[in-house]
Amino acid sequence: MSEPAPLDLAIIGSGPAGLCTADAALRAGLSVRVYDRGCLAESIHRFPTFMRFHSTKENLELGGVPLVGPEDKPTRQEYLEYLRRFVTLRGLDVRLYTEVTRLERGPGEFTLHLRGRGGDEHVQRARFVTIATGGYDSPQRLGVPGEDLPKVRHHFDEPHPYFRQRVMIAGGKNSAVETALILARAGAHVTICHRGPGFAGVKYWLRPDIENRIREGRIAALMPAEVVAIEPLHVQVRLRETGETRRVENDVVLALIGFEPDLSFLARCGVAVDPATKQPVLDPQTLETNVPGLFCAGVILGGSLSGMVFIENARHHGEQIVAKIRGS
Ligand SMILES: Cc1cc2nc3c(=O)[nH]c(=O)nc-3n(C[C@H](O)[C@H](O)[C@H](O)COP(=O)(O)OP(=O)(O)OC[C@H]3O[C@@H](n4cnc5c(N)ncnc54)[C@H](O)[C@@H]3O)c2cc1C
Repeated sequence: MSEPAPLDLAIIGSGPAGLCTADAALRAGLSVRVYDRGCLAESIHRFPTFMRFHSTKENLELGGVPLVGPEDKPTRQEYLEYLRRFVTLRGLDVRLYTEVTRLERGPGEFTLHLRGRGGDEHVQRARFVTIATGGYDSPQRLGVPGEDLPKVRHHFDEPHPYFRQRVMIAGGKNSAVETALILARAGAHVTICHRGPGFAGVKYWLRPDIENRIREGRIAALMPAEVVAIEPLHVQVRLRETGETRRVENDVVLALIGFEPDLSFLARCGVAVDPATKQPVLDPQTLETNVPGLFCAGVILGGSLSGMVFIENARHHGEQIVAKIRGS
């Protein structure tokens, strides 16, 4: 059997950044294919089931395809439906459940090593490659004894299982605050444990809500404080101002303190990263890395600086990359 022809551009990751890059490339007449190790937009698929985006619809649209819906801000379900429609409308070649395990650079082209969900392995060649693997590979861990107990979760999906449970939420950013509010309203007994003194960085509509719920006693707050140990029926929390340790009765711990991108893939591809910020070293105009022909798009550009790159400001990355490829 003859080897498949090399693509002009292979894209790793089918999140918004990967898809808008594919769309820009296809419209520029390039042969392009997107690979994702999970379903379409796997990261967004794993967001809380009933979440609503903070951005308004027009700021989440890709390639000028309208995102319509009854409210200003789409739900996760609506956005996933939009992405499916976007791929279909634009005729994008998306290969799902296909992980790119390795990337090799040869003269004038790359070889992508691929593994399907059945464990089948094959290769695909491409002149250019874009890494759009996002930043939600692994949740950040508390690093305390007991974190591997079955009652500890690093991911929130939906409120129903938490009804009448004593839930400790570790974290103080948007996800932790939003989850605390959702769970309290769903009948859970919520304590939020936050290292900081307040909720200065959270979205403007969440902050008064959490502060008022704490003030009225509907949500208990320990802050500035940190979880120091998790036991089967308790959590130990150290109050940072006094050094006092409290032992709080508890059924479930939700550690919602952020995610870390998988930088080992970048390293294996030869991409240099800034040692402090973990951001890939690249040309900000073209998004080409130190490896010629290899680009990055989307959240991966932010390295460990979570919240720096998001859909709103990443959805034009594809145009920058395609402009460089066309000029090559
Ligand atoms: C709760 C929450 C709410 C948010 N709300 C907003 C908002 O309102 N507005 C906004 O602008 N942004 C928001 N964001 C951020 C936004 O979701 C992300 O910016 C966006 O998903 C990032 O897109 P991306 O394409 O860079 O990466 P991702 O969406 O993370 O996609 C990366 C993809 O790469 C795939 N992948 C990884 N490694 C491989 C591999 N080796 N081989 C094949 N595939 C691979 C993954 O499976 C994944 O599908 C929110 C984030 C969270 C967590």
